[in-house]
Order: sequence, then structure tokens, then C-alpha cells
Amino acid sequence: MAETESSTTDRPCEADRPGIQWSTPIQYVPGVGADRRDGFHRLGIRIAGQALFVFPRAYERPAIETAVAQMRAGQPASLVGRITEVEISGRASGKSMLGVLVENESGAVRLVFFNQPFRVETLLRGARVIVSGTPRLAGFRMEFVHPAVTILGDDEPLPTSRILPVYPLVDGLKQTTMRRVMPRVAEALSSQVEEAFSPALRELAAGALAGEPVEVARPLLDIGTALRELHQPTDAQSLAAARLRLVFQELLVLQLALAMRRRKLTTDLSAPSLEPTAMLDARIRNRFAFELTGDQDNAMKEVGRDMARQFPMNRLVQGDVGSGKTVIAQYAILLAIAHRHQAVMMAPTEVLARQHHRTLTKALAGSRVRIGLLCGSMSATERGSTIAQAANGEIDVLVGTQALLYGDIPFAKLGLCVIDEQHKFGVQQRLALRRGGVDPHCLVLSATPIPRTMTMTMFGDLDVSTLKQKPPGRGVLNTYLSEDGWRERWWQFVGQKIDEGRQAFVVAPRIESESLDNTAENVAGESSDEVSSATAIYEELIAGPLRRYRIDLLHGRMATEAKNAAMQRFVQGRTQILVSTTVIEVGIDVPNATVMTIFGAERFGLAQLHQLRGRVARGSHPGHVCLFTDTGGSPEEIERLKILADTTDGFEIAEADFRLRGPGELLGKKQSGMAAMRIADLVRDEGILRVARQVAQELIDADPELSDESYSRLRAQVLHRYGEMLSLGDVA
Ligand code: ADP
Ligand code: MG
Repeated sequence: MAETESSTTDRPCEADRPGIQWSTPIQYVPGVGADRRDGFHRLGIRIAGQALFVFPRAYERPAIETAVAQMRAGQPASLVGRITEVEISGRASGKSMLGVLVENESGAVRLVFFNQPFRVETLLRGARVIVSGTPRLAGFRMEFVHPAVTILGDDEPLPTSRILPVYPLVDGLKQTTMRRVMPRVAEALSSQVEEAFSPALRELAAGALAGEPVEVARPLLDIGTALRELHQPTDAQSLAAARLRLVFQELLVLQLALAMRRRKLTTDLSAPSLEPTAMLDARIRNRFAFELTGDQDNAMKEVGRDMARQFPMNRLVQGDVGSGKTVIAQYAILLAIAHRHQAVMMAPTEVLARQHHRTLTKALAGSRVRIGLLCGSMSATERGSTIAQAANGEIDVLVGTQALLYGDIPFAKLGLCVIDEQHKFGVQQRLALRRGGVDPHCLVLSATPIPRTMTMTMFGDLDVSTLKQKPPGRGVLNTYLSEDGWRERWWQFVGQKIDEGRQAFVVAPRIESESLDNTAENVAGESSDEVSSATAIYEELIAGPLRRYRIDLLHGRMATEAKNAAMQRFVQGRTQILVSTTVIEVGIDVPNATVMTIFGAERFGLAQLHQLRGRVARGSHPGHVCLFTDTGGSPEEIERLKILADTTDGFEIAEADFRLRGPGELLGKKQSGMAAMRIADLVRDEGILRVARQVAQELIDADPELSDESYSRLRAQVLHRYGEMLSLGDVA
């Protein structure tokens, strides 16, 4: 009965209900009461008006009427027909069975009810009914056991609005309550919501969305209709149009904020103009010993264009491991130095900072460029003197970890800041070096190809250069998914490669197995919870199959010095096998290492595995990666890992990972600094996102502050949701 109460026929009288006002405390809304108040509060609904914006998370769709001949056992079906036979047996014994035959022009089906003798009162011969459920085949007839049955009057039209919203629930709230209350509120209040879109904008947006594979109402639905339809859909088409309106609005507000921010960066901040004149450009490029890939050439041009301007560059260079991002950074650094400015290069770890320092020193050998290094493991005096040199201009490039470089190093003349993010998405910090007056140009390198929707949202205020092409002469990368009994053969293969002069990585998800003890205790009797650990594998290898070789262990809990030493031994080829945790993930360049074994592969994200295996595709020899799972892997896990075996294109993998795991997995909400989406689904709504971005850019180009009266509501929403992001000061 609850459902019919909220059907469309109730609308007119619902609207007249005097009780519900915007600010009516939720407990006074009919159907709520003191009992359910707390539940609503927990959903964030204290007053009636707030309920409008708690959106259904899904919908139950009505089964489409199915002709009897089309019904399949095990597949939901429904039909409208008349009851032609009713028979009940076993009533006296208390174990009754009621059999009902329902017929229409397409045929007949049988309904069966066990121990529900009371149904004979309503399921009368001749009655018109809607039956829905999942039939099975019984003899030659389709049979529904305990289907849902609705009795219809002879002339009663079939209910049209049977799409039911599915609301998020909390303890003490039932779906039926929500379905009763929410449409009531929507009916009473949706017309009071202020419209943020002018008619012109609704028309413009509908036009822009027309190319997308979504149901577009033209113009876009008004907000009142959209909210009402969302809570009480008339049919699939109107629901889709309502959702589109709200998704578009949410994404447009975000994109407006990003477009305003991009614009503010160019107007509110200033940076030294460091122009790549033809002569400088040629001189810098001549330093590179190899021919640039087309993508590198493009990226350099983009960087040069950015740095020539009088406001800070804010550019992300993304490309797979080994795509040659460092060269782009070197170009920017040399350009800054040529203009007598300083540069800093920040790395996420000390190991990586040292590596950058080495690479730069090698690349710039014979030049007058003075390179400094700032590391946590240096003595206080050493650090102090490095900082003093940076302050009086004796150092041109300062390389170090992000932690050290944030601080207040009083650079003499800082013109460029390069941030090597590697696999991290922490671009939040990129503005930390800004201080009043003139800001440095900023270049962020990311070795994790970023899914398209992410570049349009999280990174939406950055310009992006993408390196897709690989430098020539790269070895082939083979990835295998291990099967039962492979271990021994695989170790033989690894040994063979080492005998040929190569080196090997072995990676495990944990440092020690004990780290899982807590959970292991809780999961009584479940031994499958064993996680491969670097320590255990190291012990196993030195005792067993690979004991002939020089093996080292590297993990995050070792002292910095020990870590550096282990790394150095491997880089110099003194050790042949390095067993480690994912600490090696970060940018280590050992071209001679061509074999990698990954244990517990199912515990890593695809992007991370891809990042890891990139370590063995750096030289000219083919790389070999074998993925072992701890649990044997569920079918879904195996499917996921197969993607890796099938492609080496990091961008494809990023998209797959994003589809499979969603944005939440890639970046914690805290880290993303982006308000959570209420209705938009970044995986599903990529096309709408693209359109919203384009429309936002057009609006901001034409009216940078959205100062036109017709944008006042929209502007207020942008400021309300993203005001913090727009105060450039900053984000961290
Ligand atoms: P990334 O930082 O993107 O992982 P690097 O910049 O470290 O990649 O480059 C990987 C290796 O490829 C380095 O040894 C670099 O010198 C080399 N390299 C870069 N660009 C080219 C190119 N166009 N041709 C040949 N080798 C290149
Ligand atoms: Mg790199």
C-alpha cells in the first residue's frame, strides 16, 4: 500500500498539504515522527528542505511486460492477465499449497504460494492482476513461486510510474519510509528551489550536450521538475533527463570553479618572463644526446611558451615510466638558469632526490651550472651551508626532498620549481613555494598516467602535456600471470637471466608477515590470509633456489643509510637480486635490471603494478615480469591482472583501473581536496564532464567573474562549494 500512496495520482492533493514548509523540522513531516527523526538526522536531513538534496543512489526498474513465450527460467518477468483457476491443497494439515493460473492472450502461467492460505480471499477467479517475479520451468509451464501480485480493477489503467527510488539508508530507517516521505517533500518543496540556470543557459547546455549518448531534454529541465522527477520518476526518460540536469549542474559548478582558478592564476600572480629565444632553445636542445620524441618536442614547446609569460607556468607533464619526462624538466631548468634564475627540483624520497642529483650532475657536466643537494640524512651544518649558498645565489639548482624544500629557504632568485610527483597525486603542495610578489614557474611530473576524468577534475586547473611515445630502443616488456606450479621454473628462468649478466627485482606487499598478525588472529582458521613478505621471501631465496647469487633486502623500515647502501650496491651491479617492498616503485633507474617477480600481485592496484614493472623496461634488453598471487586470485582479480598482461599502455591501464576501482581508490578525498560528488559519477559521466568543462570555459571567457545578474545563483554556488579553492593563497 505504501507504494500506491506515493504514485502520481496523489500529486495534486500532496501539493496542497499545508504542513510541509522548507524549514519544517523533519520529524513533523507526515510519515516521519519522533521515532524516525534520528535516522533522518543521520542522513543529514534536519529540516524538510534538506531532504530534496539527498538523492536516491539507485532505482528499481519495473519488469517489462513479457509475453509468455518469451519468458526464460531464472529471468525476471511480469505479465498482466486474469486469474482463470485457483486450487488449494493441504489446508487441513497446515501445510498448504495454493496454485493459481493466470492467462492473457500470450498464454498462461502458474503462481504458487506455500502456506499462505489467506491469499484465496484476494486471488479470485476472474480477477485482473499484475504478476512479477522470476519464473522457473515446471513441466511445460512457467511457474512463479511467491511472485509480487497487484490486483487491478477491471478498468483501472496500468500504473505507469513504477520506477522506485532506492535511497541511502541508515539504522532505523526503512526504504519504505524513505519512499513515502521523500516524494512528499519533493512534491511540496521542489518548486521553491531557486533556479541557478537562466533559460538561456538551459538552452545552451542542452545544445552542447546533444552529441552525448544521454537522454537530453531541450532546454534542460528546470530545477523543480528535475528534483521532483528524481524523487518520483514518471518514467525512464524523464528520470534520465532529471538526472542529466542535476549531474550537469554539479559538474558545471566544479568546472566554473576550476576555470576561475585557472584564470586567477594568470591575473593575480606574476612570474619572471623566461623566454626560450631561438638561440637559447637551440643551445639547450643541443645538450641532449638523443633525438627527442615528438611528444617531448611538443612538451618543450609548451613549457617554453608558458615560461615566456609573465605569470607562473602551472603545468603537469604526465607520461609512463621511461617516457622521458626528466628531459623536459632539464629543459625548463636550463631555461631558468640561462635567464639567471634559480631552480629547485623536489622529489618524494631521498633515494630519488639523490638520483635526480646524479642525473643532473651528469647531464650538466662541463657547464657552469652549480647544483646543490639537500637531504634529511645530511648533517645540520651541511644543510645550513647549502641553504646559505642558495640564499646568496651560489647554487643554481637545488635538488632535495619535498619535505626539506617546502620550508623558508630564502632563494636569491627563484624562477622555477619542478616537482617530481612520481606515483603520488599530491599536487596540493605545488603552490607552497609561492610567496608574495613574484612566483616561480611550476612544473609537475607525474609518472602515473592520469585517467581523463581526473585530468579534468582534480588536475583541472593545470595545463597538461602528455608523453605517449616511448623513446626508441626500448626493450620489449613481457608480463606473465603465474599459474600453478610455476615458482620453481620461474626461479630457474631468473637464474638464467642473471647468468646472462642481468639483475632482478623481487617485490612483495609487506615487510614482514607478522604485520598481519592482528587480522590473522581474528580470522579463525583461515590460513589463506597469508601475505607475502619481503623478509620471508628473502630468507627463502638465500636458503634455496637462488642462493648462488648475491641477494639484498630493501624496505622502508631500514635505516636511511642502510637503504641507500643497498640501493647503491644494486645500482652498481654488486648485488644481483634485490628483494624489496614497493619502495623501489619510486623512479629507480637500473637499466641492467630486466627481471621482476611480484608476489601478492592482487593486493596492488593496476596503476601501481604498472609503475612497478616499468623498472625493468629501462634498458635495451627485453624485460620480464611475473605476477604471483597469494590467494590464487578470485576470477575478478585474475581478470584485472590479465589487463596488465595484455597491454603496456599506461593510459589504457589508468582508465581500466579507474573504471574498476573508481576515483575514491586513486585518491583519498582528503588528499584530493575536491568536494565529493553528490550525484555525478566520474566513471559514468565522463562525456557530461567534458561538456561541462567546455561550457564553463566559454562562460568564464565571456564573463570572468560571472558578474552578470543572470549568473548570481550559479556564482553563489561556485563560491559556496569551492570558495576555499579559489582563494589562491593556499591549498595545503
Ligand atoms: P621518466 O622520468 O619519464 O621515467 P626518464 O626521463 O628518466 O623517464 O628517461 C628514461 C631514460 O630514457 C633516460 O635514461 C633518458 O636519458 C632516456 N631518454 C629520454 N628521452 C629519450 C629520447 N628521446 N631518446 C632516447 N633516450 C631517451
Ligand atoms: Mg623520472
